Formats: sequence, structure tokens, C-alpha cells
Amino acid sequence: MLILQKGFNYSQDGPGNRLVYHLQGCNFACKWCSNADSIPKQNSKAKEYSVDELFNEIMRSRMMFFDGGGVTFTGGECTLQSNELIILLKKLKENSINTCIETNGSSEKLPEISQYVDFLIIDLKHYDGEIHIKWTGSPNEITKKNIAYFLNSGREIHIRIPVINGINDNPQGFAEFFSRFDCSNADFEFLAYHEFGKDKWKGKYQIENGFVSPEKIREFTEVFRNYGFKTVTS
Ligand code: SF4
Repeated sequence: MLILQKGFNYSQDGPGNRLVYHLQGCNFACKWCSNADSIPKQNSKAKEYSVDELFNEIMRSRMMFFDGGGVTFTGGECTLQSNELIILLKKLKENSINTCIETNGSSEKLPEISQYVDFLIIDLKHYDGEIHIKWTGSPNEITKKNIAYFLNSGREIHIRIPVINGINDNPQGFAEFFSRFDCSNADFEFLAYHEFGKDKWKGKYQIENGFVSPEKIREFTEVFRNYGFKTVTS
């Protein structure tokens, strides 16, 4: 598996202390991506590991998985390496390791992958198809189909919305989209736009005035709570 970077973090990508792997390659090209290095399929900074190498590394690290922690696969888009990811996740589940993935939700294989995932994080950048293409370079149909599938199946999911001024800062639109479903097993998190990864675009960064105020995040929270949805912060 091609891994761009790895390291521990606490409760940002799933519960507890987690070993987080950033897989190389993404099928989206979000103009605000904070990890633009991870978008190309190949990257000289990324390193290839076999499933067994990763499995052994994770098992050696298990003492560190305190407070309900475990391992998280993110990206890039981790589901692009779904064949190996499924094998690895299966092995980890057989060994009682808590697993998490963070995904843009665009893989047809997500329902299959999710069988081996304890904590499933799906990002929705925009509910509108055309606006989604404009800012991410990709359609959102499969993401929306997968979200509908999980909401209808009643499995617990965690939905993250990156909130960017002038692009997707309409909480009512998002809430109306989700109101078509029973969201009792979902929670929602709103991530305020930041520019931590701007330098990685090497002068090609196109977002201007993307910052949102704390009031905007509170507005998202309030609108979603008024719809009866559960909201969280990490
Ligand atoms: S889906 Fe995530 S990793 Fe992929 S381009 Fe968008 S922000 Fe970057």
C-alpha cells in the first residue's frame, strides 16, 4: 500500500489515541485540500508497504491505542486502495483492533469496506452536484448514494462538512438534504476552513476569502440541532 505519512494523534480521526495512515492518491481535487501532496496517484515522498508490514507495525503499536483508540486510514482517499485495505482491515478486526476510515465517500466498495470498520467518517463537501464538481473536480452522486445507504441501514456514521466561505456555507441546504433520511444513527461535525496546507500548492492555491467565523459554525450547529440532528466537535 502506498502511504504518504503516518503518525499518532489523539481523538481527531476517530476515538482515543490512534495510529493514522495517510494513503497516497485521491480521486477528488478539492481546491482547499490541506494535503495537496496526497492527491496524485504517485509521489516520490510516499512509501510502499505490504499489508503484512502494516499489520505487524499496527500490532506492535497496540499498547498505544488507549482511551478506545486504534488505527485510522485516511488520505488522500483511502478507498482507492480498497483491495489491500479490505485485507488489512479484516486482519485487524480478527485481532480486535479498533478501526476507522475517513473517506470522501465516492467508492462503490464502501459498503463492503465498512463491514470491517468500527468508526466510519464520511466527508460531504457539497450536496449540490454541479457545485461539487466545480470545487472538487468530481461528482458527488456516489457519495450521496453511500450516505443514503448507511443512514437507511441504521449503522452509525460520522459526517464531516468542511465549511468554506462563499462555497458551501449554507447550513439550510445541507440540513434539507439530510432531512430526507432518518439520521438518528449519524452525527455531524463542521470543520471551519483553514489554510494550513496552502504552501503545498506551490503558488497554485485558488481559494480566496475562505475563512468562516465561529458564528457561522454555530449557525450550522443550530440549524442542524433544530432539525433534530446530533452535532459533535472533535
Ligand atoms: S477529498 Fe480530501 S484528500 Fe481528496 S482532494 Fe479533497 S480534501 Fe484533499
